[in-house]
Amino acid sequence: MKAIISKYILDVNGIRENMAVLVEDNKIYDVVPKDKLKEYDVDEIFGGEHYLLIPGLINAHTHVAMTKFRGIGDDLPLDKWLNEVIWPMEKEWTPEEIYKWALIGIAEAIANGSTVINDHYFFADEIAKASQKLGIRAFIGQTMMDLVEFPIAEPEEGFKFFKRWKDRDEIVKPVLAPHATDTVSLELLKEIKEFSEEEKTLIHMHVSQSREEVLRVKKREKVLPVEYLKKAGVLNENFIGVHGVYLSNEEVKLYAKSGATLVHCAVSLAKLEGSVAPIISLWETGGNIAIGNDCAVSNNSLDMIQEMKFAAILNKVKSQDPTKASAKDVFYWATVGGAKALKIKAGLIEKEYLADLVLININKLHFTPKTNLLSHLVYSAKGSDVEKVFVNGKLIYDQGYFPKFKKFDYEISAEIL
Ligand SMILES: [Zn+2]
Repeated sequence: MKAIISKYILDVNGIRENMAVLVEDNKIYDVVPKDKLKEYDVDEIFGGEHYLLIPGLINAHTHVAMTKFRGIGDDLPLDKWLNEVIWPMEKEWTPEEIYKWALIGIAEAIANGSTVINDHYFFADEIAKASQKLGIRAFIGQTMMDLVEFPIAEPEEGFKFFKRWKDRDEIVKPVLAPHATDTVSLELLKEIKEFSEEEKTLIHMHVSQSREEVLRVKKREKVLPVEYLKKAGVLNENFIGVHGVYLSNEEVKLYAKSGATLVHCAVSLAKLEGSVAPIISLWETGGNIAIGNDCAVSNNSLDMIQEMKFAAILNKVKSQDPTKASAKDVFYWATVGGAKALKIKAGLIEKEYLADLVLININKLHFTPKTNLLSHLVYSAKGSDVEKVFVNGKLIYDQGYFPKFKKFDYEISAEIL
């Protein structure tokens, strides 16, 4: 069995000192005092006294291959950005290119502390293969839409992708990924609902991302986006909606009651829409919240540590109340909230939980004075403080090196250019 040592262990339940985490196969076997380590059959020890150990961060909404478009179309309104900049470029994708750029995106996410991605994109097989290559835990959906002419998002391919991958890999799992409430018809959503009930799959979908989306749904269906999801029968605990920027008070209540998760992409939507979703209102009504980076074009990085800080700050600004979106709340969203959405036993450093763990080097100026490590993690840390990442009990990132892929970060990016 492996042991992971650190000066401190931090999860949403609090901080522990002088403890070691024992890992057997893919799970946490136990968390024990360091001086008791001798009593266990440990053959490998990782970490050291300059580390903080946290649960892996769950990046609950990504489009990892979009690293290709980083820096293109900045500072434009969302509808214009999507229709005039992004979609024309996306129509040119080839599977080979998706694979290469997905490797970059996934590697970046891992290097900044993500142990899980929930990805929504085209040529999903390639993203699944890139995930396997690097060893990240991945939930992947093939984007499906039928109200927009988009040959690489043919709905049928979404179902086929699911079937191809449902029993193929221990940690790479398929989901269904209808694009958004304004690009997917009621008929298709109903088909997705039936398929998801039969196959017990998660549904990952953009909801109420822009004002235009809300207007289009209202015009076409005579209801608001969340009411539309309810009407189609997909709004339940298997539903992972993303953004929800324009949810009305009534939609917030409906959403919270349904048991569905809303993924908050604070940076991306602040940049694209100049707006913050009613996250606090949903949270206070009992809804589940997760956090995601979205993509490298709208974010423009895949750094979940930075994302936690932005989620906290932007929600304080939105509610004009500094007591909202506390460090503990956003850390919960990035760990337990994401695990709950994806139905995995992760997000806490406890016996029997998945060994998805991150070691952060706290031997740095911005971690001084170490009096409040939760605050230091959310408000002072940077993704680059991450040094070692474990997924399913295996070391998949070690200070710039990806052991499974046998490549350094600079080698992965050099291959693209
Ligand atoms: Zn998205």
